[in-house]
Amino acid sequence: MFNGKLIVFSAPSGSGKTTIVKHLLKQEALNLAFSISATSREKRGDEIEGKDYYFLSTENFKKHIKRSDFLEWEEVYRDNFYGTLKKEVERIWAMGKHVIFDIDVSGGLRIKKKFPEKTLAVFVKPPSIDELKIRLKKRKTESEDKINMRISKASAELATAPLFDCIIENEILDNAKKEAYSTVLKFIES
Ligand code: 5GP
Repeated sequence: MFNGKLIVFSAPSGSGKTTIVKHLLKQEALNLAFSISATSREKRGDEIEGKDYYFLSTENFKKHIKRSDFLEWEEVYRDNFYGTLKKEVERIWAMGKHVIFDIDVSGGLRIKKKFPEKTLAVFVKPPSIDELKIRLKKRKTESEDKINMRISKASAELATAPLFDCIIENEILDNAKKEAYSTVLKFIES
């Protein structure tokens, strides 16, 4: 029988985890599918409904919380809710694939706690807070206020790194991608 695994990638915003997750998704040998989260935040740039996120109204999101539809959820930033629907994991396992998550630190640790054996929790560490600031500014997707909000959260998130199964330093992206690939391959083959 297929033994579906959960691969969690968590990191402060701007540390490059999304780029690494996208790279891993292209590797057929890993047999991964992306867990599409639900969020109440506004759609950004060229994001696509049902591909990047399931965009829900805050009211609808709260309804799902009440019904216990989420495996985990978090108010990541004020009034911006994010969560993993239980159905999403079931959908991916039913396709015979392992699930890969790009989620915040608390959500990642919650999944690890719920499924300790099945989960590989990886923390992607940016070289420094200053570098993080530069990356977020370059991305040009958030206002100055929002960038500051993400930076202040990042310091607290960095402190949780030792709670993860492994830490990948993203100083040189290519090296981080290679390390991520071999770590995930080893886990799904174990
Ligand atoms: P963004 O707004 O940049 O897409 O995401 C903001 C933060 O929310 C990121 O750290 C992202 O990983 C996190 N996030 C995305 N989906 C989920 C989720 O389903 N649960 C939790 N706890 N965090 C999530």
